[in-house]
Amino acid sequence: MNIALVGLSHKTAPVEIREKLSIPEERIENAIAQLCKYSHIEEAAILSTCNRLEIYVVVNQIDRAAQQVTEFLCEYSKLPFADLQQYLFTLLQQDAVKHLMQVASGLDSLVLGEGQILAQVKHTFQLVQQYNQGERILNQLFKQAVTTAKRVRTQTSIGTGAVSVSSAAVELAQIKVEKLSACRVTIVGAGNMARRLVQHLISKGATQISIVNRSVERAEELANQFSDAGVQYYPLAELMSLVATADLVFTSTASVEPLLDKAKLKAALQPEQPLMLVDISVPRNVDADVNELPHVRVFNVDDLKTVVAQNQESRRQMAIEAQALIQEDLEAFQTWLRSRETVSIISCLRDKLEKIREQELEKALSRMGSDFAKKHQEAVEALTLRIINKILHEPMVQLRTQRDVEAQRLVLQVLQELFNLDTPEVQSSFVAQTSSLSISTVEIAAKNINVAQVNREHYKVAQMRLESIEVHAKVEEVIAQSVT
Ligand code: NAP
Repeated sequence: MNIALVGLSHKTAPVEIREKLSIPEERIENAIAQLCKYSHIEEAAILSTCNRLEIYVVVNQIDRAAQQVTEFLCEYSKLPFADLQQYLFTLLQQDAVKHLMQVASGLDSLVLGEGQILAQVKHTFQLVQQYNQGERILNQLFKQAVTTAKRVRTQTSIGTGAVSVSSAAVELAQIKVEKLSACRVTIVGAGNMARRLVQHLISKGATQISIVNRSVERAEELANQFSDAGVQYYPLAELMSLVATADLVFTSTASVEPLLDKAKLKAALQPEQPLMLVDISVPRNVDADVNELPHVRVFNVDDLKTVVAQNQESRRQMAIEAQALIQEDLEAFQTWLRSRETVSIISCLRDKLEKIREQELEKALSRMGSDFAKKHQEAVEALTLRIINKILHEPMVQLRTQRDVEAQRLVLQVLQELFNLDTPEVQSSFVAQTSSLSISTVEIAAKNINVAQVNREHYKVAQMRLESIEVHAKVEEVIAQSVT
């Protein structure tokens, strides 16, 4: 079995595209079921956050499965393949595993080291457990990624004093407005992000904060947590009147439709009334047409990149330390995956020998006829079993304890060939996992270059590998010609 990841993130796609591919929680189960209907996909998990949509799949044929995930994404987003492909990246085998560990640790976040992503990966892990029964590969992968991220957060300083999307949004507003303490601030939403916005705004000196939310009870609950700061709360019906009297509005809801657009704002605001909107939601809560209003300034999550650049620099060293931990855990996961496949080949071999033993025993017993007593039959059966077990014992111990990955791979390959074992997908994935950049990644770079863009760094390496494969093929061709 192989692991593949097809997705897009804040590094490869702007918010206008990311919002089209955002999969809300209530649609995840259905999306997983749809993905698993594809012929080459065995397991699927979806990590959908404001900064990324990543689909992890366990597949029996890697290049076809990557195409199938891309097909699913085109269908879901209603974007033609030609428009979508430039934003997608594909990672395979250990590249995909390592990526998830980095994501969970906050190393791939817009704000390096932020902690909210770990909660989102944990949530995806819960969904994986819910929708993929039994001891499945993605289950173990997400479990390992969560463990690794916790290790990274406790054994490095990556999370200490880290900023988050909400603190970066407040910082951006602080840079853009003259005096935060004099601003009338409205926050739309009363969820996690809204709570963090209130915290950061208060710590930066904001004094006039109103919360407006769909469920007024939740808005009240949030406002009560900050009663000392005089935070007010309102139902969503008051949205436009609050916006009309605000200087600064933050939007942070999970609504899939814009809550504010040009027409609504034009109707609510006085001509030339200035307003600043900071929208940290994905899908966006503020329609793009608001940019056409000359006195309204709109910022979205992608605009936070400038604010976080400085933070990234100071965190680079910590990120290097984190990468070393990730490498250790990546190897541990690879060992688990290999042992799983070693067991599969061993059980295949055992089944084959057992079948031979049973057939031969049956033939022998039928030749001996009914005179052959039952207790003798049992003794012969036990004898044949012991012979099989003794023959298998030593090679199995050797296989299980073999630390040299390459040697183990060769032994398994030889076993498969010598005994003609019917486990082709196990072998191919095993080969792929053991190389530092799987050959499948190289192949997919060649075959799917029009299907999905392989992560640029990997693609460069893949291209080099391809070139060397092509050179090798050319040499073979020249030799063949000169021989004939
Ligand atoms: P959350 O805790 O689940 O809260 C969701 C909020 O959205 C609630 O206030 C909810 O109102 C409101 N809401 C949901 N559907 C709505 C609708 N149709 N109309 C109006 N309000 C609606 O979510 P969150 O983590 O705060 O995330 C909010 C937004 O920020 C999302 O777009 C997310 O992508 C983005 N974001 C999240 C993170 C993160 O790390 N979590 C980081 C950056 C950006 P009720 O109380 O009435 O249900």
